Amino acid sequence: MPELPEVETMCRGIACFRGEIIETALFPRHTRRASPIQPRPKILSSKLQGARITGITRLGKRAILSVTPANENNELFLIFEPRMTGLLLRVPPPTEKHVRLIARIKKYKHPLIFWDRRGLGTITMVDKSTFMSRFGNNALGPDALTASGPELYDKIHHSKRHIKVALLDQKILAGIGNIYASEILYAANIDPRTRCYRLSKDACARIASASSKILHHAIKHEGSSIGDETYRTADNRLGRYQRFHKVYGRDKNKCRRCKNDIQRIIQTQRSTFFCPSCQTRY
Ligand SMILES: [Zn+2]
Repeated sequence: MPELPEVETMCRGIACFRGEIIETALFPRHTRRASPIQPRPKILSSKLQGARITGITRLGKRAILSVTPANENNELFLIFEPRMTGLLLRVPPPTEKHVRLIARIKKYKHPLIFWDRRGLGTITMVDKSTFMSRFGNNALGPDALTASGPELYDKIHHSKRHIKVALLDQKILAGIGNIYASEILYAANIDPRTRCYRLSKDACARIASASSKILHHAIKHEGSSIGDETYRTADNRLGRYQRFHKVYGRDKNKCRRCKNDIQRIIQTQRSTFFCPSCQTRY
């Protein structure tokens, strides 16, 4: 969790802060496990104080704030990786004790907050050259929202991995996690256990097209709040795309197309959901 649609929804939810000045940035101390923060909070606070937010974008499953510190011209990148339970909020958080960053923004009553219940999410600030060396040069695959069939085929046609496992690899496509990998393969009618090298160009085109369609639909419905409903929008509302899940979390329920049972299997220690009769194993 948070995958591409959820992180995109967070970025859109805090887009109002673009162009604004950060007055102060506080990193509350926690006795329990704290989110990894780099550089140290003291250095980060001083860089952010008075900085202008020049851009808010998504990169795969990360949210990136471009900031220009006060009295400096060089752009820095503040990277939020929510991992399991991280959220970017512009309203009061679900709990006070899991707040990892409070950035007060000029003219706004409520600060920008990074909240993370499990504390596995990360906050990192880097300069442009570090950003490019970490994320440039094919460090990430094409964005799963816009990737084409040929791009996907190029990345996977030599691989023996199962297609579901490959879709979770951010170097293949950026942004897909466990929920949307199952949903995309169901929409493309492909069995998640199919080995990548068995997939034709046509099958890769179907996966790319399903990926774009499902992720756009999920963004429209502001992502999926599943299980304990930890995932929230930037103004602390539930996502709605869970209502549209066709296979994820629906094992022992009937497939809506063929009325056979949806199955759950484990692939590389993660649950995969699929319909064995609708999804073809090549
Ligand atoms: Zn079916």
